[in-house]
Amino acid sequence: MPSKPSAPKAPKAPSVKKSKVPETLRGFRDVLPDEQAAWEKMEDVMRSLSRAYGFGRIRLPALEQTSLFERGVGKETDIVEKEMFTFTDQGGVRMTLRPEGTASIARAYIEHGMLNQPQPVKLWYSETFFRHERPQAGRYRQFSQFGLEALGSEDPVLDAQVILMCQRFCKDMGLDVTVQVNSLGVPSSRKAYVAELVKYFKLHKKQLSETDQKRLIRNPLRLLDSKEPGMEELKAGAPQMIDYLDDESKSHFMKVLEYLDEAEVPYVLNPFLVRGLDYYTKTVFEVALTNPGTEEGASMVLGGGGRYDGLIPLFGGRENTAAVGAAMGLERVLIAAKAAGTLPDPRRRSEVFFCQLGEAARRKGLKAFERFREAGIDVAEAFSKGNLKAQLEIADKLKAPIAIILGQKEVLDGTIIIRDMESGAQEIVDVEKVVGIVEKRLLEIRARKAVAKEKVEVQPSV
Ligand code: AMP
Repeated sequence: MPSKPSAPKAPKAPSVKKSKVPETLRGFRDVLPDEQAAWEKMEDVMRSLSRAYGFGRIRLPALEQTSLFERGVGKETDIVEKEMFTFTDQGGVRMTLRPEGTASIARAYIEHGMLNQPQPVKLWYSETFFRHERPQAGRYRQFSQFGLEALGSEDPVLDAQVILMCQRFCKDMGLDVTVQVNSLGVPSSRKAYVAELVKYFKLHKKQLSETDQKRLIRNPLRLLDSKEPGMEELKAGAPQMIDYLDDESKSHFMKVLEYLDEAEVPYVLNPFLVRGLDYYTKTVFEVALTNPGTEEGASMVLGGGGRYDGLIPLFGGRENTAAVGAAMGLERVLIAAKAAGTLPDPRRRSEVFFCQLGEAARRKGLKAFERFREAGIDVAEAFSKGNLKAQLEIADKLKAPIAIILGQKEVLDGTIIIRDMESGAQEIVDVEKVVGIVEKRLLEIRARKAVAKEKVEVQPSV
């Protein structure tokens, strides 16, 4: 007898192989909620500083035509030679994720006819930039800069103003910085200097590393910021730029220094400072911690900039359109501020915590919560929690001085409870009046705290 056919088996669900979610790309990172208070503080400082000095914000596109950077930043620079994220789009256009801001600023100044506005035109930006560098502490492939640019004037007071703003920016972030300054002169005086420099290093060619021998041929100025072994001693004997400066550059530089002296901006002269971009003329500068503490801190330049009088004419803008600018590296400023302990507390500081009990209270709670928000009072909540004890514990952890409690009974009565978290005292108030009463209680609590703080401060030390 043929065996009874067995019931057809349900088709087996295809086995889904769990693959790992791709991680962030090397040199790229997420900025998590705990870091936001620090970023917000930095954004506040940037905004208030720029407003005070009359800089208007500009937002730049992330992608530009590759030729903008090749021409602006310079083909022989590290950035253009090996660090740009460049690709060809579907339409065959070669484009690059911006590696810096100044070339785009010069483009925007020309494109929007800003040379017809009263000069100087002062612009600031806070943007992310992209460079394919070897990631390490304080060096990423996506990073952010606070940029300042003053275009359309060669007045040395603007060089000083931009430098001063970089220093004040760091100071407002709680950092004590010193500025290193140098002058690269104009292209003609620099040419004479570079010829002398090449002559000098050719005499010592055998002592140069392979990289520096390449620099000697392609970009000899970069030898001055070479960190290769043995270069410190060699550089010490090299001719110095300052001796080759033309009279105009020299007097411009002296004026910049006088303004810095007057404004009490701490600076040191660094004859070897050249910076990595081709467009600089006359003033160049870098900002670093005055007392870095660690070796890592010492090698971490927080920002820099300089004058770029040749860039706008190079892009086809009006001849003699001078400009000066700077960029501060925001991740590095945050690293330094964290080490210095000057960052704000990452936790959200709400003075009021909202507790609700039961479904009806939760529903009414959403509306009451909105009333506080409209009145500009920052209220924390844990709507997803049902238990009062758990909610009060969170309020306690957040150090909220007031909790407001809405239960079933209060919903029926049209009331709400205000609890002083320090004393535990509670009062039942009309829900329509709660916002005004809480505002009053907060003023009382702040006054109480101020008196207590004053008492602690006048205590004689033992
Ligand atoms: P630069 O545009 O090269 O003059 O750089 C100005 C500042 O931007 C530097 O001093 C750094 O603080 C910051 N910066 C430049 N490149 C990076 C990077 N790859 N990662 C993080 N910060 C950077």
